[in-house]
Amino acid sequence: MDCIFCRIVAGTVPSFKVYEDSAALAFMDINPLAPGHVLVIPKRHAPNLWEIEDGSLRETMAAARRVALAMKTALGLDSLNLVQANGPWALQSVDHLHFHLVPRREGDGVPLDWFLTPGDHDKIKALAAKIASALPALP
Ligand code: 5GP
Ligand code: ZN
Repeated sequence: MDCIFCRIVAGTVPSFKVYEDSAALAFMDINPLAPGHVLVIPKRHAPNLWEIEDGSLRETMAAARRVALAMKTALGLDSLNLVQANGPWALQSVDHLHFHLVPRREGDGVPLDWFLTPGDHDKIKALAAKIASALPALP
């Protein structure tokens, strides 16, 4: 087993656990973007959003919401980012799907901001049609 997050699930690598159920695990990120940064993962290995099964994804997202609610109460939050990376150019560094729950506060300097630049409507429309035409069938 060479996946660090599978090792955390198995308990052979330690972690600061926040929540666990039969399908999902939440634990603290060891390089927090902000105090209280939590990772939520499916227990069954899936590398990314393209390859996870719908059922496992649903259960992991439900766990993420429960943990986000706990963070809201425990940390007194009114803001939080849900972040998830797929592939090298999205800067995914661990190939076991994970959702980042990042607490946000006014002026915290967390680098998750970008300028809004209006796009060309014809190009946007063409890409919408291209993506829609490739949707997989429902399971
Ligand atoms: P990514 O860049 O793939 O979206 O995020 C991977 C995250 O996993 C990083 O924020 C990193 O700090 C975290 N991480 C990597 N290895 C470990 C580990 O062994 N334990 C914990 N708790 N977090 C880890
Ligand atoms: Zn894994």
